[in-house]
Amino acid sequence: MSISANLQQIRERIASAAQAAGRKPESVQLIAVSKTKPMEMIREAYEASQSVFGENKVQELREKHPALPDAKWHMIGTLQRNKVKYIAPFIDLIHSVDSPRLLAEISKQAAKHERVIDCLLQINISHEDSKSGMEPSEAREILIGLDEYPNVQIVGLMGMAEFSSDETLVRGQFANLRAAKEQLESIQHPRVALKELSMGMSGDFEWAIAEGSTMVRVGSSIFGQRNYSV
Ligand SMILES: *Cc1c(COP(=O)(O)O)cnc(C)c1O
Repeated sequence: MSISANLQQIRERIASAAQAAGRKPESVQLIAVSKTKPMEMIREAYEASQSVFGENKVQELREKHPALPDAKWHMIGTLQRNKVKYIAPFIDLIHSVDSPRLLAEISKQAAKHERVIDCLLQINISHEDSKSGMEPSEAREILIGLDEYPNVQIVGLMGMAEFSSDETLVRGQFANLRAAKEQLESIQHPRVALKELSMGMSGDFEWAIAEGSTMVRVGSSIFGQRNYSV
């Protein structure tokens, strides 16, 4: 199948999942995860009206952004503090903020470019390992102290469920992320607007939409399986 046909199919599945949950299809944004994929495939998606792309490596973002500067580029993977400077000039959204120290560096680099960078706080919802995000209590501390980070705006939360075919388990983890967002929504700050829930990938985005996802990050169902050996 072609990339445009795959995109069409994913858009239809997003719309049906939204409708089944009593939601508007437009309330779910599709982030096309193009990591490891070449520019010609990304351009094909762009020409099929896909304007937002997710990458998990700074190096790839640095190479791909200039080749398609009118697209929106999202960072979705683990971000090292010493590499924030390379993406600060152009990144549209960072999904994977997992520590106060990383957020401080993002704010510092954003200031150099006179930008305010939109960020999501990544929450550990699967508890498979301790590295994939923070606890909701840590997110609360950050939001309460957001004056310390003047050049970022927190627009929501991101989470990754366990890789599992157990619907109850996976949906429970997505529901926990939604609950965390609802609890944190009471925090008032001019640069806190928790509207986005980034959750759901190729294997579980319909369950994520049923649990309130507003951003699904879909890669292999659009671009095909990734080959990491090349
Ligand atoms: C790779 C990746 C995705 C997309 O995964 P697929 O299963 O290919 O859809 C989504 N989110 C993150 C954080 C990723 O690293």
